[in-house]
Amino acid sequence: MPENIALVVAAGRGSRMPGDTPKQYRDLYGRQVLRRTLEAFHAHPAIGNVRAVIHPDDAEPFADAARGLGLGSPIIGGATRQISVRNGLAALADADAPAPANILIHDGARPFVSAALIDRVISALADADGAVPVLPVIDTVKRTDGKRIVETVDRTGLCRVQTPQGFRFLQLLAAHERAASDGDRTYTDDASIAEAAGLDVMTVQGEDANIKITHDEDMARAQAWLLSTRETRVGSGFDVHAFGPGDHVRLGGVDIPHDRALAGHSDADVALHALTDAILGALGDGDIGTHFPPSDLRWQGKDSMHFLSHAMELLRARHGTLVHADLTIICEAPRVGPHRDAIRMRIAEGLAVEPRRISVKATTTEGLGFTGRAEGIAAQASATITIGAGQ
Ligand code: MG
Repeated sequence: MPENIALVVAAGRGSRMPGDTPKQYRDLYGRQVLRRTLEAFHAHPAIGNVRAVIHPDDAEPFADAARGLGLGSPIIGGATRQISVRNGLAALADADAPAPANILIHDGARPFVSAALIDRVISALADADGAVPVLPVIDTVKRTDGKRIVETVDRTGLCRVQTPQGFRFLQLLAAHERAASDGDRTYTDDASIAEAAGLDVMTVQGEDANIKITHDEDMARAQAWLLSTRETRVGSGFDVHAFGPGDHVRLGGVDIPHDRALAGHSDADVALHALTDAILGALGDGDIGTHFPPSDLRWQGKDSMHFLSHAMELLRARHGTLVHADLTIICEAPRVGPHRDAIRMRIAEGLAVEPRRISVKATTTEGLGFTGRAEGIAAQASATITIGAGQ
């Protein structure tokens, strides 16, 4: 049973914003708003599964936004947010799999949810029935009749509430069923439904960056925030594998006939190992051995594209972008030149980036050193990324 499931609510039609595309499917520097949201939860180690609630007309854009993430099929929402969440909870309760312990409900249009915020919500659930992120109200708050001020509201204890809102699954399901049978009242968030059911809901610190993209100006704000916080980083990687008996070597995911093979970690693809380390280096997130220890038998003979994809997932989970990767393979033989384009295409495909962002080069060491003596193959790589400065 997964301990924590994220339910991303994306069934709104964005009637508050003009234009044909609902705001959660709008492009935000190369990825839809919803894609960014789904990736943030998908990449979080404490989240066992991510499900989304969508509008019945949005099956196609949703499939696009969720491509490759391996999420369960989307759940169809209803006329209000409250009905959409209830549909989501009911679908999870009816599923063949056992119900999760905790459920985190999140707005699909809040793409900048951080891993730290998800952690805070999950941690707080150890001591409370529910946990919601809040921010202080900084401005003075007034009540008006639409034109004139009626009164100044005492802001002591007031806060603004965000998502993800976390709850014990069965308690929230019961609270929603109760709210539905109440009829008249419409609730705008799940915490109000939990409060009405008498549950104990705790607050955790929210984040200014965790904005909800509702209006056109929010989209501009999201773009400005992404741009203002981005920085460029370069990571480097280097790897060597020795020759052993065999009839081909795998370089950059491509099998090249040779009278020897490479020995060592996984499929010994020295080129992909160097490239994986370059991406991890740019992220400042250890190296290939940290994530996939050579002592772990699961990685024996493993396709190294798996390690490269994992590094790329870590990059995307932190809202980073691979600008360019440059790889140099160093050996006397086999000749890499004839396979260069195949390697380039294979790497571009594995990383899901355009081939123009990948460079593959090969060189010899003029007969000098261990590569010159044909004892093994070396590879070095650099990866240039852009990433939010706070990531
Ligand atoms: Mg290696």
